[in-house]
Amino acid sequence: MKRLLCTAACIFAVLHAFAEERSFTSPDGKIMVTVNDNDGKPTYSVSYDGEEFILPSPLGLNTSLGEYVADMTLLPEKDAPKLIEEEYSVRTIKQSKVNYKATEAVFTFAKEDKPAFDVIFRVSDRDVAFRYKVYPKRDTRSAVVYSEATGFQLSKGSTSFLCPQVKPGGGFAGTYPSYETGYTLDDPVGKNGWGQGYTFPCLFRNEDKGWILISETGVSSAYCASRLIGHEDGLYSIGFPQEGENNGNGSAFAGIPLPGYTPWRTITLGATLAPIMETTVPFDVVEPLYEASKEYVYGAGSWSWIIGMDGSTVYDVQKRYIDFTAEMGYQTVLVDALWDTQIGRDKIADLASYAAEKGVALFLWYNSNGYWNNAPQGPKGIMDNTIARRREMAWMKSIGVRGIKVDFFGGDKQETMKLYEDILADANDYGILCVFHGCTLPRGWERMYPNFASSEAVLASENLNFSQGACDNEAFNACIHPFIRNTVGSMDFGGSALNKYYNARNAPRGSQRRTSDVFALAVAVMFQSPIQHFALAPNNLTDAPAWAIDFMKKVPTLWDEVKFIDGYPGKYVIMARRHGDDWYVVGINAQKETLKVEVELPMFASGDVVKCYSDDENLTGSLKDLKIKKNGKVKIEIPCNGGIVLQN
Ligand code: CA
Repeated sequence: MKRLLCTAACIFAVLHAFAEERSFTSPDGKIMVTVNDNDGKPTYSVSYDGEEFILPSPLGLNTSLGEYVADMTLLPEKDAPKLIEEEYSVRTIKQSKVNYKATEAVFTFAKEDKPAFDVIFRVSDRDVAFRYKVYPKRDTRSAVVYSEATGFQLSKGSTSFLCPQVKPGGGFAGTYPSYETGYTLDDPVGKNGWGQGYTFPCLFRNEDKGWILISETGVSSAYCASRLIGHEDGLYSIGFPQEGENNGNGSAFAGIPLPGYTPWRTITLGATLAPIMETTVPFDVVEPLYEASKEYVYGAGSWSWIIGMDGSTVYDVQKRYIDFTAEMGYQTVLVDALWDTQIGRDKIADLASYAAEKGVALFLWYNSNGYWNNAPQGPKGIMDNTIARRREMAWMKSIGVRGIKVDFFGGDKQETMKLYEDILADANDYGILCVFHGCTLPRGWERMYPNFASSEAVLASENLNFSQGACDNEAFNACIHPFIRNTVGSMDFGGSALNKYYNARNAPRGSQRRTSDVFALAVAVMFQSPIQHFALAPNNLTDAPAWAIDFMKKVPTLWDEVKFIDGYPGKYVIMARRHGDDWYVVGINAQKETLKVEVELPMFASGDVVKCYSDDENLTGSLKDLKIKKNGKVKIEIPCNGGIVLQN
């Protein structure tokens, strides 16, 4: 043992004088990660199929223990990279069963000859995930992480597909950032949005070599959530929350015990958009933080607010939506804001028992805010503190409420991450599902918190009611989310309207829907969320085409598999999801010209007769049978704002 120590020490002494560099690959050998300490700076790079995807990029942290970004030494390898394999199931994500295979490699960086941090990599055939483990220094047992050097250097010719972060404190009642701004597509790298960086996930095109999606996962109460800050030369680095979030309250730093871990930062990459649409990395590298207190029930539902707004949160309308939900064969009705004053708790209990007789359960809306914004809608002052929250949840359990939708969160600071976690953990004690709105991106939460259902974190359906401009751009935006926002977590969009107009009479006033009925069917499959409150209304039973209502009655909300087929962000999407043995191939088109493509659909056999919902040039939809040809190829035509659905 002594000799071994001496040998290790001698090697260390020799290597100390020279830069150290080591590489390892994904299980299939295509992704290569290289780590070195050139000029004393911790650095990594990523190549795919021999092409550089992430150029040499900085690693390191600036902490209360010291600045771990310069004068660092990469220590010699302790353990060789190893293959890790894990099978797991999560019913609420894009793929119900996952077989995760990755190479794990650990790199230890030292400062002044003492180990400062490890970079732990896990590299699958489509993703690079890495996080830091920070070591104690002398007798310290805790550290503050002030910032990270962690960066992602894109090539200068790359283009970006990004959602700029807004300044905190603005927006409706000071609720910014709500993580629901629009995207800038096909934009050169080297910018920084509106000066505040970008919201995860961030998509890049590596010239004509392929695609890169950067995000993070495994963010719990143990760290803050991050964003990407853009720099002039195409470097994007991890940015912590803005000081003004939460009304300026709370720290924008991260506090960790020692030894302590940061969240995982993830890079999903490949020659096409398939790895990005199909990735499960947000869930691969995290673990459940507690067990589900019961078997949660997921499914579709309806909500009056999306068409009827605040005035519809009244007893009679909710009763009508319970009847409608039962007639659709759906699970739940979401009772949105202001029910505390416009309906009241006693009448909510009446509605819950009326619903139960029809096999329907309620979701109740809550305002999260205590001291972080001025959103006035009630009920409020409940979800922000554990005493009131648990009392309320006990009441909810007693009347059989299925879940909550909590809105208007404060930002990405560690204290807000703790609020999400506390709400989820308390709700699990009472068997309640959680949906978040006005909220940050979920970061692996479907697996970490078994009663987490879905988050908004997108410019969602409410905007279609608020403005005609959002309706005019509905197809454009819908062609972005399957490649970016929805690839890393459930997305509560609340759409698939069959009303022509966003008002309760479906009369020609207010916002007019520009997209077709088949489009509405396609996005019901495309936008993945285990709980779906669709924007359907009771009048759709008589004023929408029967084939559309019949489809919406049966469309699943839980999926076993997803496949990218074709598409480009902001232009068009063709993709497929599987539920059991049923495949749904869906497409939408935002381009002015009718999309005409021939695609291979290996999920169907030649000679299969599938149901085909499609649009003519006037966006009039119809349902026909389609026989799959011998060569397995299918010609697809989708007019602007239209859709297609093929179903076996
Ligand atoms: Ca919202």
